Amino acid sequence: MNLHGKVVRMSLIDKIFQNIKRFSERQSVYAIHDDDLLQMLNELNLTQELSEGKIKCSNCGATITIDNISSILKNNEKILFNCDSLDCIQKKVS
Ligand SMILES: [Zn+2]
Repeated sequence: MNLHGKVVRMSLIDKIFQNIKRFSERQSVYAIHDDDLLQMLNELNLTQELSEGKIKCSNCGATITIDNISSILKNNEKILFNCDSLDCIQKKVS
């Protein structure tokens, strides 16, 4: 059985988006494992934007990096990122 390659990658992304959708419908936040995160950023072509500092925290406006990303929130069709400052972490669960 071939569990490697694109089929598995796509099903992972589908799973992540299902989770984001499910959680965002409850106006909550879905945090994912680092490896999944990197893979998702790659699939969304956001890796470059992230490395160029173009992604900002939706709460405080800080530049999001791979080190300070704490959560991803899907808001309608927009994907929002939160940084790991205490303020933003507390905000996302309220
Ligand atoms: Zn923030």
